Amino acid sequence: MSLKRVLIANRGEIAVRVIKACRAMGIESVVAVSKADTDSAAAHLADRSVCIGPPRAGDSYLNQNAILAAALGTKSDAIHPGYGFLAENPRFVRACEDHGITFVGPSSSSVEMMGNKLAARELAVSYGVPVVPGSPRVKDLKEAGTTAEKIGYPLLFKAAAGGGGRGIRIVNSKGELEAAFTNASAEAEAAFGDSTLYMERYVVSGRHIEIQVFGDSFGNAIHFGERDCSMQRRYQKIIEEAPGVMVPEDTRKKIRAAAVELVQGISYENAGTVEFIYDIDRDEFYFLEMNTRIQVEHPVTELVTGVDLVQLQLRVASGESLGLSQDEVALSGHAIECRINAESPQRSFHPSPGRITRWRPPEMEGLRLDSHCFEGYLVPPFYDSLLAKMIVSGKDRTEALEKTRVALLKFEVEGIETNISFLSFLTSEPDFKSGNYNTRWVEQNIGRFLPQG
Ligand code: ADP
Ligand code: ADP
Ligand code: MG
Repeated sequence: MSLKRVLIANRGEIAVRVIKACRAMGIESVVAVSKADTDSAAAHLADRSVCIGPPRAGDSYLNQNAILAAALGTKSDAIHPGYGFLAENPRFVRACEDHGITFVGPSSSSVEMMGNKLAARELAVSYGVPVVPGSPRVKDLKEAGTTAEKIGYPLLFKAAAGGGGRGIRIVNSKGELEAAFTNASAEAEAAFGDSTLYMERYVVSGRHIEIQVFGDSFGNAIHFGERDCSMQRRYQKIIEEAPGVMVPEDTRKKIRAAAVELVQGISYENAGTVEFIYDIDRDEFYFLEMNTRIQVEHPVTELVTGVDLVQLQLRVASGESLGLSQDEVALSGHAIECRINAESPQRSFHPSPGRITRWRPPEMEGLRLDSHCFEGYLVPPFYDSLLAKMIVSGKDRTEALEKTRVALLKFEVEGIETNISFLSFLTSEPDFKSGNYNTRWVEQNIGRFLPQG
């Protein structure tokens, strides 16, 4: 291992996750923290912490110069970006390359190539990967109208620079077109500084299926199977699982092959995820986007493959080969992840930061908790609301789901509101157990959980 010291440019559970991987490999860890995080679990756990600025992410976790200075100042060989923040910022990746700092992720050109979802769509097409019938860039409302007639309703406006479920608007009929166009452009401009939109046919009954891929600098590219992330609210994942047993085996094989084809084609290095929407009625799949980073839900893949993906990221970034072939990747059992957020289901899932006065996660065989929380921890209001990922594995889906349901009932948190009751509702639903749901299930059934609306 040529990496001696890695700077972690992130916070929360993923910072803790990366520190643990470094420690297991004998690599020193330095965590860059904002003023709000100087007392965080990551700051305590890392070999060293460096304050990079005020609480607001724009002044700290997104401050490229401060992070580069922290890496150079601590003589770190590499930067691990986690997910979110600068993880998919090609300018930042290039700055690392220019300063001789190893970026634990793909090259700046790969990040750039996939960063624009519209360009990524075209790239996918060029490698023979099917995409959702849709449009190139939509310039204005008039053009949107003409294109909509061709695609048909319902359809989606999506932000070319989008991510995290933002900048997506559904259009059910012609009458909704104008408002959706205006709202989506405004949201895209505000969130990403780029109002470019495109359109896609809306897959009315779809499953979100994504393939965990990995490439190295020797031209190897493999996959670690798929994850099903169809339980979503507002285009954001809530529960994820592996493998994707609700999609026919033959189709899954095709999706995996398509993902590897794309990754091989662009000589992609390090961890990535190719996301697809699977049309249940047509038994067809379409490329959505590629995320050029480690994903929030990577643990479900780790539990069914037995491979530590973050350690593999570090090894590949240091110039080693993947060290395993496709044949050596074997899947066994089933894993389910619940995202436990500081939010109030009763108040439209509004964030609920504050002091955690009681934190008693369940302990159970086959349960893994990825979290930075502890009793007494003050959840700051500045960042996203993920408190913990509870990942449960079992011999099959039925067992993993039953264990998940029991574990959620035992999870005690006080002082702040969480979505645990909502997760309990979801995992107790017959539709969830039988797999009879699609990406719209929450929207269509939330009335039973929150009867007052
Ligand atoms: P994953 O894709 O790993 O399942 P999310 O979609 O929840 O996870 O994204 C992880 C984090 O990255 C979230 O904090 C989200 O807001 C952020 N994120 C994702 N894409 C972007 C983007 N294009 N720009 C800014 N932040 C993003
Ligand atoms: P983001 O970059 O915000 O993650 P994605 O393109 O990955 O955006 O889409 C997020 C989610 O929106 C998907 O997981 C899926 O549930 C839904 N979605 C996206 N495109 C379509 C589509 N064409 N039809 C139906 N649902 C879609
Ligand atoms: Mg996505």
